Amino acid sequence: PIPPASNFIRNIVERDLEHGTYANRPWAGAPGDAAQQTTGTTDPAKIRTRFPPEPNGYLHIGHAKSICLNFGLARDYNGVCHMRFDDTNPEKEEQEYVDSITDAVRWLGFGWNAFGSSHLYYASNYFDFMYRAAEYLIESGNAYIDQQTADEMRANRGTLTEPGKDSPWRNRPATESLQLFREMRDGKHADGSMILRAKIDMTSPNINMRDPAIYRIKRATHHNTGDKWCIYPMYTFAHPVEDALERITHSICTLEFEDQRPFYDWLLENLRDGGLIADPLPKQYEFARLNLTYVVLSKRKLIDLVEGHYVSGWDDPRLPTLAGARRRGYTPEGFRLFADRIGVSKADSWIEYTILEDCMRETLNESAERRIAVLDPIKLVIDNYPEGQSEDCFAPNHPLKPELGKRTVQLSKELWIEREDFMEEPTKGYFRLVPDGLVRLRYGYVVKCTGFEKDAAGNVTTVHCEYLPDTKSGTPGADAIKVKGNIHWVSAAHAYATEVRLYDRLFKEAHPGAGDRNYLDDINPNSINTITAQLELALKDAKPEDRFQFERHGYFVADQKDSVAGKPVFNRTVTLRDAWQK
Ligand code: ATP
Ligand code: MG
Ligand code: MG
Repeated sequence: PIPPASNFIRNIVERDLEHGTYANRPWAGAPGDAAQQTTGTTDPAKIRTRFPPEPNGYLHIGHAKSICLNFGLARDYNGVCHMRFDDTNPEKEEQEYVDSITDAVRWLGFGWNAFGSSHLYYASNYFDFMYRAAEYLIESGNAYIDQQTADEMRANRGTLTEPGKDSPWRNRPATESLQLFREMRDGKHADGSMILRAKIDMTSPNINMRDPAIYRIKRATHHNTGDKWCIYPMYTFAHPVEDALERITHSICTLEFEDQRPFYDWLLENLRDGGLIADPLPKQYEFARLNLTYVVLSKRKLIDLVEGHYVSGWDDPRLPTLAGARRRGYTPEGFRLFADRIGVSKADSWIEYTILEDCMRETLNESAERRIAVLDPIKLVIDNYPEGQSEDCFAPNHPLKPELGKRTVQLSKELWIEREDFMEEPTKGYFRLVPDGLVRLRYGYVVKCTGFEKDAAGNVTTVHCEYLPDTKSGTPGADAIKVKGNIHWVSAAHAYATEVRLYDRLFKEAHPGAGDRNYLDDINPNSINTITAQLELALKDAKPEDRFQFERHGYFVADQKDSVAGKPVFNRTVTLRDAWQK
């Protein structure tokens, strides 16, 4: 495989490896880690990264960028990427999300077996340590209990142009804060009545350094720790601690966390000085999140789309969730190619959705076997073909891979062809079937059109033709008669009729909700077209998630959920070429 292009994060990693920044680190494993038995040895991993989703929703295409980046770095530099659930917020997290996230990461081709240990990390396993770290900050004069109201705290935080004001509780003795913090833990105080804050600088130009909150009272049952705690750490405090405990070397996040980096460093340096964690400390690096045209990539908006029944569920093939993309027929290889192609930078930008589609086309062109499908069928009757008879034609399974061989498709007197492959009054440059014209039935014979029938509404229902017996594809002299058009077909007596879903974009605007618009008003009302198509018989045996190119149409997948054995239904993954807004 071609190594991924360099980017600023790879440069940082390579420089660290060259300088031995993380060489010979003692490795004791993280709390609860199977690798803890190796206490006293040095870390066998050259680097450690992590992918730390909050289990409060399904992963989307933006997360795929982060997954490919973090797991890709570990893969390429002899490191380990920790699959970590950032589950420090008790309220919104569910096992359903944990399961869907692990499924999605595995599906993308990444795993978390390394150096003899297989381990999923949960931030909530570190609550005891986080509590001790908070007590240490209080004892060392670096944190205090604040009893201002939420409104007072907001007012005293200041603004971008105005410094904040010290809380009246800021200089209370450490012993008093410690006692109150323990009472908080013991459930002696009401939710919201007090909060633990870091003591840094209320006049800092960076608002995140103005004594950020680090622990709050919240009576809520946690999916892992149950009712053990009624206080929970804030994300900004928990995250650096998680990284440090797991001995992460490169903690990579999106740009909106750039202003949090000073606090990340402040906290870890303090805990290191107190002997709670050891050098070398993890370092945070920020990259630009993925913005993709024609989709929304925000868990909140995705939740709205699901709960508002704009789509059929989290795995609706039109959604940019990884579960949806999978059902749509998108490939893990395509996502990895996409991640390499868009690269990693520090500048925010929009990526065209067609780039993702091209990556899917490229990978599917390689891997998908060819089949024949007639999506908008009309009858073609070969009047000079014997009634009740049929014969084998041979169609290659993959034009680029002759080793995949050929399969037989049956030809008989009555065929299905595409409505658009016949034109009563042809336009200029139309080379398919026209009255008195010749066309090749792909893998079969040249036929000559002899007439057609229409229904009362004037729509063509049946086309008549005669075949030229000496022209069968693959037989000597088959090409003696040259024709410009070549159309696909399936034998009506040997066809499998089934449901096929033709998807279009869920949003009709490139930037849903831009300007004053509500993104819900930008939904494309015609994002799904369900049809009954006539497919070649071999497709009846397709298993859920089998992917094919339907010749001349695009790539299709047997739906993962709605297919039953012997009766698959198909989703269009992507057309052969970009047909959007032509
Ligand atoms: P959302 O913004 O959609 O609500 P999130 O950032 O809250 O997502 P997390 O579960 O916290 O979701 O994210 C896990 C990881 O995925 C984080 O490290 C985050 O930086 C990364 N991530 C989330 N969205 C994107 C995106 N659009 N592009 C790249 N990385 C992303
Ligand atoms: Mg988040
Ligand atoms: Mg977010």
